[in-house]
Amino acid sequence: MIAEIIAAGSEMLTPHRQDTNSLFLTEQLNDLGVQVAFKTIVGDNLDHLTGAARNALARADIVLFSGGLGPTEDDLTREAAAEALGLELDRNPTILAELYKRFAARKLVMPPNNARQADVIAGATVLNNPAGSAPGQFLDTTVNGFRKIIVLLPGPPGELKPLFLQEVKPRLAATLPPRHLSRRQLRMALIPESHVDARTAPIYKQYSDVDTTILAGHGEIQLHFVASKATAIEAQERVDELAGRIEAEMEDAIFSSHGESLEEVVLLMLGLRHLTLAAAESCTGGLLASRLTAVPGSSRYFLGGAVVYADALKTIFADVPADLVATSGPVSEPVTRALAEGIRIRTGASLGIAITGIAGPTPGTGPDAEKPIGLVYIALADGKETRIKELNLPGDRDRIRWWASQHALEMIRIALLEQQRF
Ligand code: ATP
Ligand code: MG
Repeated sequence: MIAEIIAAGSEMLTPHRQDTNSLFLTEQLNDLGVQVAFKTIVGDNLDHLTGAARNALARADIVLFSGGLGPTEDDLTREAAAEALGLELDRNPTILAELYKRFAARKLVMPPNNARQADVIAGATVLNNPAGSAPGQFLDTTVNGFRKIIVLLPGPPGELKPLFLQEVKPRLAATLPPRHLSRRQLRMALIPESHVDARTAPIYKQYSDVDTTILAGHGEIQLHFVASKATAIEAQERVDELAGRIEAEMEDAIFSSHGESLEEVVLLMLGLRHLTLAAAESCTGGLLASRLTAVPGSSRYFLGGAVVYADALKTIFADVPADLVATSGPVSEPVTRALAEGIRIRTGASLGIAITGIAGPTPGTGPDAEKPIGLVYIALADGKETRIKELNLPGDRDRIRWWASQHALEMIRIALLEQQRF
């Protein structure tokens, strides 16, 4: 059972308006165990809308239209749907009388165009729209021997949502076989998407009944699994089994097995080990601290730190010897080490992390003038040893800064994982 959503409205083909109704409808359909296989956004053009309706009827079992039910010339959904179905539009006298009444109540004469809002596809059930004048329509019919459910909904989200919840969802629930959707999400950091796919595809391809999606971006790979089954338990077991096999394959590369963010996981791991963290950030300017403090409750494990952008502040706030900065340059292994060790001691944290780098687009100064843009050092000090990582990150300033913070979090996570083993 697959669905298609057709969002009608030329405004959504401009950069100024987004189709948000389909997000709501997708969530609601998923709730009923129905997957949305296609979404189409069409301008207010009868031919285009009719074509989209024909395509949808040919490939989906449930077709939901959003918008284009108003009284104006560009509201064409009724006409297009009827044309694609090969059905007549009947002017419904009850709706027409209601429309006249609405206008009369406001002491207005109803413009003739408004009567179009009373046009109903032959055989469709009229759905009362308490928040507006254009009623919805629900049609359960057969097209070329296949059962199709067609629903017409008004465009304004404040009308579409209550109408769907009150009139459409119960009707769909009553006609569809009981299906339950279950989801799982696995997250990994800093691994190329192609590597993840090469290792996981042989596993997830064996689960043709689970929809697997790989999302990549911002130094992170997410694997999303969705299964639709007759019972919630069956669906959950299926996604859990697949997720378990992928976890066994990817092992420690997976930082999150139920969708938690990398910063949440790092804080959780610190908490479990009764450890605290402090950060000295140069090129990331507090981005790491910002990401960590965005997690509620982080203050127990993340103490804070310093943004040490100017050379002098590296000495003032983290006791980095001034001559070390002068000779090695601020973006260097020894300075980053000293920063991590210095901030750890100055704050009394169990762990100190430091990030220095050349985020560009302008090059570094002094001893750093010749160093490439994207060069980043990250150091992690625990009082016994100081780990250091040298990176050459591609991309623009934003990307370099983000990836540096991502590498720092992942470095902490890996160090904490290893600690657990000893
Ligand atoms: P109306 O009687 O208001 O004309 P309608 O059913 O014809 O209702 P539209 O004219 O298509 O609906 O849209 C009315 C309003 O709803 C517009 O402001 C539009 O931006 C918004 N809207 C329409 N479709 C969507 C959508 N898919 N997502 C979010 N907003 C939408
Ligand atoms: Mg309209």
